[in-house]
Amino acid sequence: MQYRTFHKTGQKVSLLGMGTMRLPLSPDGKPDRQEAVSMIRRSIDQGINYVDTAYMYHDGESEKIVGEALKDGYREKVLLADKMPVWLAKDEEKMRAMFDEQLRRLDVDRIDMYLVHNITAPVWKRAKKFNLLPFLEEKQAEGKIKHIGFSFHDELPLFKEVIDAYPWDFCQIQLNYMDKDFQAGEEGLRYAASKNIPVIVMEPLKGGKLTDALPRTVEALWKQAQVQRTPAEWAFRWVANHPEVLTILSGMSSQEQLSENLRILSAAEANSLSPEELAVIDQVSDEYNKLIQYSCTGCKYCMPCPKKIDIPTAINFYNEWFLYEGNPKIKADYPVWLTEGRRPSDCVACKACEGHCPQHLPISEIMAKTAEIFE
Ligand code: SF4
Ligand code: SF4
Repeated sequence: MQYRTFHKTGQKVSLLGMGTMRLPLSPDGKPDRQEAVSMIRRSIDQGINYVDTAYMYHDGESEKIVGEALKDGYREKVLLADKMPVWLAKDEEKMRAMFDEQLRRLDVDRIDMYLVHNITAPVWKRAKKFNLLPFLEEKQAEGKIKHIGFSFHDELPLFKEVIDAYPWDFCQIQLNYMDKDFQAGEEGLRYAASKNIPVIVMEPLKGGKLTDALPRTVEALWKQAQVQRTPAEWAFRWVANHPEVLTILSGMSSQEQLSENLRILSAAEANSLSPEELAVIDQVSDEYNKLIQYSCTGCKYCMPCPKKIDIPTAINFYNEWFLYEGNPKIKADYPVWLTEGRRPSDCVACKACEGHCPQHLPISEIMAKTAEIFE
């Protein structure tokens, strides 16, 4: 296992972190507790020392399973990360209650790495309204939190604003070779590093979309490369190549995935990819981009829609359907996003959005096509 230094404390952190959003499942669709505990413990035995969970992963089961896995001497071997989903709190009191519930579920008295979860513009606004950061400092003073950070899912300008707003100990962003200019992206990574803020990376495999059901043309490009690697290895190595990255979280669902990821991250060093290898990754990324149907940049100039449709997210689903050749994972994710009043099928083709789109996308037509595939 490779280790990188958390400069605040000088601690060595494993380059592969144990994510627990996609734990192994039982036939009833709930996490397989025994298998999950065994996998988390095996990951620690093999050198992983960063374990990440969240209030809502597996409806709270992830925190309980992590708590169980960290008994019998495992707790002190790891940095334990958890997050505050402030958007679920109706007031400050509820936010405080959720924090206490997390400690109870985990059965610990301290969380090492505590994040403001999933910062987007509305979440950031709410965090400020509920005085979340002073609350976290209070918990830090009580010894219940060690380091304060945030995870992020919005545009680069907001990322920079958030970075500059507080002396964060660390942050967490989505990064993979397809998303280098998406959300915080590579520029956000470098920005955080320039402020001495360590970066934890999530979604290195884009939720499995860079490894499962590859487009045929992408498969052919990988086959032509001089060095033969699995798609997961290419994707992990691309992230690991960035020296600014402290650790890479992977939500592992099986012992096989854990073994494969341990193998890859034990050899992936920063700045180790050759120009030829980076060129192959760029070719694959270009090929994926060719398969994208509509080049929505996610700028949201088209919003708000009178029917409350989240237009860029709907377009993203549509694109991914073609990009990943109808990967069932995409259809499975759709109902998670699809809530009452946000269906593309609710589009009345008023075209109020279209005049604002700098990419001149035929949004109402895309909404109809999206509804046809997913609803
Ligand atoms: S055309 Fe459809 S997506 Fe665009 S604003 Fe009107 S209802 Fe919303
Ligand atoms: S304005 Fe156009 S490019 Fe921007 S998010 Fe909306 S659809 Fe996408």
